[in-house]
Amino acid sequence: MTVPLMQLQAVGRRYDEAGPDALAGIDLAIARGEMVAIVGASGSGKSTLMNILGCLDRPSRGRYLVDGCDVGALDADGLARLRREHFGFVFQRYHLLTRLSALENIALPASYAGGARRLRQERAHGLLQRFGLGGLGNRRPSELSGGQQQRVSIARALMNGGRVILADEPTGALDSRSGRQVMAILHELHGAGHTVILVTHDPGLAAQAQRVIEMRDGRIVSDSGTRVSPARSACADVPPEADRGYWGEAVRGAVAALAAHRLRSALATLGISIGIAAVVAIVALGAGARKYVLDDIRSIGSNTLYVNRGGDFGDDRAAGVRTFLPGDLKALAGEPWAASATPVTMRTLRLRYRERDFNGQVYAVAADGFLSSGMALVAGRGLVHEDVSRLAQVAVIDDNTRRRVFGEGRAVLGQAVMVGGMPATVVGVVRTRDEYRPELQVWLPYTTAAARLFGQDFFDSLTVRVAADVPAALAERRLEQLLTRLHGRKDFFIFNMDRVVKQMENTTRTLTLLLSLLALIALVVGGIGVMNIMLVSVSERTHEIGIRMAVGARQSDVRRQFLIEAVLVCLIGGVIGIALAFAAGQAFSLFVSKWRMIYNWQVVALAFVCASLIGLGFGYLPARKAARMDPVQALARE
Ligand code: ADP
Ligand code: MG
Repeated sequence: MTVPLMQLQAVGRRYDEAGPDALAGIDLAIARGEMVAIVGASGSGKSTLMNILGCLDRPSRGRYLVDGCDVGALDADGLARLRREHFGFVFQRYHLLTRLSALENIALPASYAGGARRLRQERAHGLLQRFGLGGLGNRRPSELSGGQQQRVSIARALMNGGRVILADEPTGALDSRSGRQVMAILHELHGAGHTVILVTHDPGLAAQAQRVIEMRDGRIVSDSGTRVSPARSACADVPPEADRGYWGEAVRGAVAALAAHRLRSALATLGISIGIAAVVAIVALGAGARKYVLDDIRSIGSNTLYVNRGGDFGDDRAAGVRTFLPGDLKALAGEPWAASATPVTMRTLRLRYRERDFNGQVYAVAADGFLSSGMALVAGRGLVHEDVSRLAQVAVIDDNTRRRVFGEGRAVLGQAVMVGGMPATVVGVVRTRDEYRPELQVWLPYTTAAARLFGQDFFDSLTVRVAADVPAALAERRLEQLLTRLHGRKDFFIFNMDRVVKQMENTTRTLTLLLSLLALIALVVGGIGVMNIMLVSVSERTHEIGIRMAVGARQSDVRRQFLIEAVLVCLIGGVIGIALAFAAGQAFSLFVSKWRMIYNWQVVALAFVCASLIGLGFGYLPARKAARMDPVQALARE
């Protein structure tokens, strides 16, 4: 079957449902290799026809076939592909991207078509030379004359091959000499096998073409006719192409676009960085606070089980329980899950030293495990097994007692102090971590206390330290079983700091979460700022989007371009925000010494993820708006 290269069948175009026809029933076939001039008065529909031929626009009625394929069946990306691979546009007003150099403008269509960057550069260079623009490659369009700009735009039309050159009044804005140069180039291209379609209202230029079509009021009123026979071709199924994105170029383009509006970009970045800084700082603050609180609790020992008499705190029957006996200790010493166990019986007794009396808390304990991890021996020794077995009259005192009873600066080791009427030799001094406990504390061997002070052989309570690697809950169960068996019934209850730790963990976590939500609001406000500048950017750059689409950018290319910009703003904001948060941590440590903010890589990673998501989320709407623009309308905006 022989088919024309391009064929219009009863094509109509109406810009407005109720408005007049810009094109009214056009039937036209153009063969490969033709040079066609379209003439007609202004407003007769020439540009409308050209836009439909070049797949920038779609007919409202009728069919348009390219190589026998109905273009109406193609989606936006299909049309973009035809524009990219098939057509090359040359516009009266050049439509070059003002921020790109001549060379970059020429290479632009190839960046949407693919291929190695080096080859594309070489080809663009070759085209630059071919049209006498060597040496001008780095100039911006504003630094070129009209004729030079038009030659750049012709080179751009040829970048991807440009089998069909669509030139809409290419000489309309040029002086006659430049116009002649451009026409010479178009003739040369025709001679080289390109199909050239030219709109002009200069009858002299039209006469140079083989075929002249005259339009009036959206209709073809005369056609000098074709003399080229249609080539053999058929509509073959075109394989779908892979979306070849050039990330490097897209990122460079985004940086350039952001740099073009520094203040605006900086403000949007600031908004994001404040949000990110708030999130990071609050999470770090929460982590720091949690660590501080938990360390404090853990210093008391979360691996410690406290066994008290009775059913619970405040149980009235507790005083009657007399089953906590030395046998319990002996049994516990044989259990692998118990690192140490000590009885604790506390009484308030009189301390007397050199005629002065004090009230002290006297603890009757065993040698092992009476020092909790919050206490440190600062002088002398602790209690030893020998003290216990021999009922030694020795005492370990705390720092408070040392200061109050003996006075500052006095040697206390070896001094005798009366404890509830029993003389005891001080063998060690302990400093407790808890500076809020002003009681005077004294520790005695439990055997000594039982025999000489309390007059009872049972204990008030037991403190069992769980062995390392043993879960506290497991040890608690074992302890309960053991003591129940020994006592013959469960006449005790076990208290464990682990529960307090868990509760504290939950509380601080909830608090951090709540504060993070507040910070997230700051982040959302920042995101809205980004969306705002992106929307402004899209509407400012409508013309640019039109040009990119005209040279074959897919919707996804345009969408990606704006998304990258939004994400870039957010990532830069993220980096600044993290730096701000770290600076805040430094400042914080100047004022608060007890604890500090804790940063970890998870927080930093979270910040980056947040920033990227904000960029994608709030950049999506503007990017979609850009991608969905109508190429013809976008081009018309300047
Ligand atoms: P020419 O290129 O021959 O001067 P056009 O194709 O640009 O003519 O315009 C044909 C008709 O369609 C004119 O009446 C014009 O006002 C109208 N027209 C062109 N573009 C648009 C548009 N984007 N929206 C509405 N009307 C348009
Ligand atoms: Mg026109």
